[in-house]
Amino acid sequence: MKIIMLGAPGAGKGTQAKQIAAKYEIPHISTGDIFRANIKEGTELGKKAKAFMDKGELVPDELTCDLVVDRISKPDAAKGYVLDGFPRTIPQAEALTKALEARGEKIDYAINVEVPDENIVHRMGGRRACIGCGATYHVEFNAPKVEDVCDTCGGELVLRDDDKPETVQKRLSVYHAQTQPLIDYYKKANVLVEVDGTQDINVVFQDIVKILGA
Ligand SMILES: [Zn+2]
Repeated sequence: MKIIMLGAPGAGKGTQAKQIAAKYEIPHISTGDIFRANIKEGTELGKKAKAFMDKGELVPDELTCDLVVDRISKPDAAKGYVLDGFPRTIPQAEALTKALEARGEKIDYAINVEVPDENIVHRMGGRRACIGCGATYHVEFNAPKVEDVCDTCGGELVLRDDDKPETVQKRLSVYHAQTQPLIDYYKKANVLVEVDGTQDINVVFQDIVKILGA
């Protein structure tokens, strides 16, 4: 079962990807993890990627795709995989389709976790992080016992810059410009499925299982 996760940053697709990976016993593959692993192991692809990252440049689509294809060629991905965070753009999706075609493979499902922007801004705005130990909370879903005080270390809880509405809005704008076109791309390929990501995370997962089969 070869799966791609789609959805805005903050829609919860990473959480769903992990649960899918656990249930169907396939690896959860995120590009961040692939980059780190290859750089750590000092592979040829890792060295190439590191050269771009050291210069503060984005790793080119083709190289990223090579790294992903290298990862999905490993024995643990023989039954399938969940790709999380790749592809992010149409050129990346096209590169992936081409690379898979060369292997006689295709993506089975592109799962779009749908959450309206205003929900994401609201959700992220409720996050709090401890300046002492880094523990994270949420004012609605995972509130500390005492407001703005860390349960673990007593440190002060703050809203991180990354979670501030203006930062989240900016990320969402990039998502709508670059990544949302992938929804049409995979719809045309007849592999797009959509789930309502505004529901409780366990309900979202049940909806995904209904689609993928138990
Ligand atoms: Zn703390």
